[in-house]
Amino acid sequence: MKTIRNKILEFVLLLQSGKSIFNELNKLKKYEKQSINENLKTQQKNLEKILLYSWKYVPYYKKILEEAKVVVNEEILLENFHQVKILDKEILANNFNSLITTNKKFRRNMYTNYSGGSTGTPTKFIQAQHYRIREMAAKWYYYTLINSFPCKHIKLWGSERDIIQAKFSIRSRMMNFLQQRKILNSFQMTQKNMFDYTNEINKYKPIIIEAYAQSIYELAIFIKNNNLKIFSPEGIIASAGTLYPSMKKLIEDVFQCVVLNRYGTREVGDVACSCEKNQGLHMNIINNYIEILDDNLQPAEPGEIGQIYITKLTNFTMPLIRYKIGDLGIPSKNTECGCGRGFPLLEFVEGREMSVFKTKDGTIVPAEFFIHFIGVVFNKGIISKFQVIQNDYDKITIKYILQERENLDGYKKQISYAIRRVMGEDCQIFWREVDQIPNLPSGKYLYTLSEIQ
Ligand SMILES: [Zn+2]
Repeated sequence: MKTIRNKILEFVLLLQSGKSIFNELNKLKKYEKQSINENLKTQQKNLEKILLYSWKYVPYYKKILEEAKVVVNEEILLENFHQVKILDKEILANNFNSLITTNKKFRRNMYTNYSGGSTGTPTKFIQAQHYRIREMAAKWYYYTLINSFPCKHIKLWGSERDIIQAKFSIRSRMMNFLQQRKILNSFQMTQKNMFDYTNEINKYKPIIIEAYAQSIYELAIFIKNNNLKIFSPEGIIASAGTLYPSMKKLIEDVFQCVVLNRYGTREVGDVACSCEKNQGLHMNIINNYIEILDDNLQPAEPGEIGQIYITKLTNFTMPLIRYKIGDLGIPSKNTECGCGRGFPLLEFVEGREMSVFKTKDGTIVPAEFFIHFIGVVFNKGIISKFQVIQNDYDKITIKYILQERENLDGYKKQISYAIRRVMGEDCQIFWREVDQIPNLPSGKYLYTLSEIQ
């Protein structure tokens, strides 16, 4: 039953997007009950729809889809889909304007979004409100794997508030209230704050905790080492960064609840999440067409690792087709989960490779802090790639590849300020302009690297 709070929330979101968030969520709940095969048919229809649409309204794709023979005489030939040219971050940046739709309807309420990028490459892209609501429902759907949603929840998440002295806007405070959400800033995990966060959780008694995988893991270690009592929510959703089985186990032991592993990025939203059965991650195949391909762009075998490519089926403003996210995944041997939900499984996703930073006084600084500030908050197209290295407790080196020299000094100043706010005022920051930043031998990119043992 909808509470008054939910009705207000629905109304506020409806005004912005023209769509009811609860309707969108209910649709996904309906798909959940259908068979995987039925949902695959819907996925195919959605894929055909975005392809035809992109051919008609997105200048970049007209030629690409014709060349691949995916659109012939206004007909979609899906059997040729594998011939569509891959979209990577560089191609996206170089064809930015021609990737935006010419269709007025989908240009309404569009906004620019940024990602720290999974390959160390900050990325800019366009989304709009129609997309935002469907993706918000997709996020909510994953909460419902634990409990009906909205419900009381705590988000241990990065927030630039307090760091650059921004305040929560009235709007975000209202949204927190309407969604029954409390935010604990994972960019400021000092020893004192971790005590406070533990108390906040005990006081608020959230039904769900949503957190950066690294941050909730560090908080769990803190609670365990200090023998603190902690309220047990119904479930925890860990996201952003790889949740390794040993991390998952420790979080489960400390919080005494199920821990779900959710995968998503700012470019494509939340695309997969494990359930209580822990047999893999349920892919949202209604909103996404996900491919895991080997180096020759052939489908990776079940159990084998490959690059993840996503075709977003909900973004009609800047469609992303066969977009190379930069994360690695493993197709599942068994796509059906013991829970019976109609969304097929992905075995594992290995997201960003990164180290957590620690200061001498025990403050934990997640890698997302750097990705967020360098790639999102201050991303003005000044650098094209970066890597942050902690050489010592109070010494940081930032390697970067320069894109645009103008405003570089101001950019460095802003980032240095933000870093000293969390790492300590006497933290030394060295900027090193380089020509390239090599990948790891595994082919993965290391964003942050701590040299402290
Ligand atoms: Zn399941």
